[in-house]
Amino acid sequence: MLVKPTNIQGKGRALVASEPIPAGQILLRDRPILVYLSHHDHDGPVVCAGCFRKLSSPEPNAAPLLSCPSCSDHARFCSPNCQSSALASSHSSWVCKALTCLRSASTLSPDLRTQANFLIAAYNLSSVSPSDFSLLLSFQGSGVESPESHLLHSFILAVIALHPLPKGVEASPVLTALLLSKDKQNAFGIMEPLKDSGERLVRAYAIYPQASLFNHDCLPNACRFDYFDNPGDGNTSIIIRALHDIPAGREVCLSYFPINWNYKDRQTRLSEDYGFTCNCDRCQIEMNWKDEDEEDMDEDEQMDGPDGGWDGSGDEQDFPHEYFFMKFLCDRENCGGTLAPLPPENGMPSHVLECNVCGQFKPEEDEDSGVNEDDMLDE
Ligand SMILES: [Zn+2]
Ligand SMILES: [Zn+2]
Ligand SMILES: [Zn+2]
Ligand SMILES: [Zn+2]
Repeated sequence: MLVKPTNIQGKGRALVASEPIPAGQILLRDRPILVYLSHHDHDGPVVCAGCFRKLSSPEPNAAPLLSCPSCSDHARFCSPNCQSSALASSHSSWVCKALTCLRSASTLSPDLRTQANFLIAAYNLSSVSPSDFSLLLSFQGSGVESPESHLLHSFILAVIALHPLPKGVEASPVLTALLLSKDKQNAFGIMEPLKDSGERLVRAYAIYPQASLFNHDCLPNACRFDYFDNPGDGNTSIIIRALHDIPAGREVCLSYFPINWNYKDRQTRLSEDYGFTCNCDRCQIEMNWKDEDEEDMDEDEQMDGPDGGWDGSGDEQDFPHEYFFMKFLCDRENCGGTLAPLPPENGMPSHVLECNVCGQFKPEEDEDSGVNEDDMLDE
């Protein structure tokens, strides 16, 4: 492992580089313990209920898509393999019945339906894979009961009353609230491709055993990629890559949301969903910016410093992290993705960056017009 778990004073559990890591290096390839679909109130794409790949409309002579024997068209599979493995795990007969109940639970909002999908997957995990369920419980998140968790719990109880969960844990309001907090703090959103309108749908959420151990930083030194629609086994794995060279012993962090979010939005998300205040280098600078500078950093504004018009002459005191966005923020409209170099080949660094949201490949700009690696390693 290129990263190892460590305790950092005043911060708790963290992953640090166990050796010098070159830019673009793959730090982790992690298979999910749990994947569940996001609920859309408008039509999202149809995906295989086994591997979560998008199912393209079948060609005239292609083999027909397979369905679930119980709920038929509500669960489709791209292959007999996906069908048989899903029927024994993620689409067990209990999940199938629970999802059928959920379709008739008309009082739940789309957001609560997505959370109900999670709870169904999580309680099912306790039945089909108790060790993965214990792992899920070991993650960060100490659930607090709320009106929403009670509403979702009464849904789960109604399902279990009709269809007892085979050899799973016993559902309780406390456990439901706890599971919901594990989800909130550890799940990665798997996005659909960016639409021309700029709209982005979440296809699914996935929880990974190792990837959820990375802490957040608003100036991350690694980012994650997923390739759910790729062929072959392991399409649901998440891949974490280094943005730039990382010295041994340095903590490796991800950003838990797009890197171009402004200070206020970042702090709100971190305190509401993760329960902490970020005090990173970038936040310490941006907390002093005036409100009118806190417009969303979209398009041209993203490079603006506190005067609302950073002009390239670089008032380093006010906006010392401009280099980071020049290099690592995708410049495609509405994207907001992070660019990371491709993995080194035969020890040679790549000079092509890949966006983790829109997938574009971009040649690296000349060294002297852009980023000085030393800047990034400065503490
Ligand atoms: Zn499949
Ligand atoms: Zn079914
Ligand atoms: Zn921060
Ligand atoms: Zn992009």
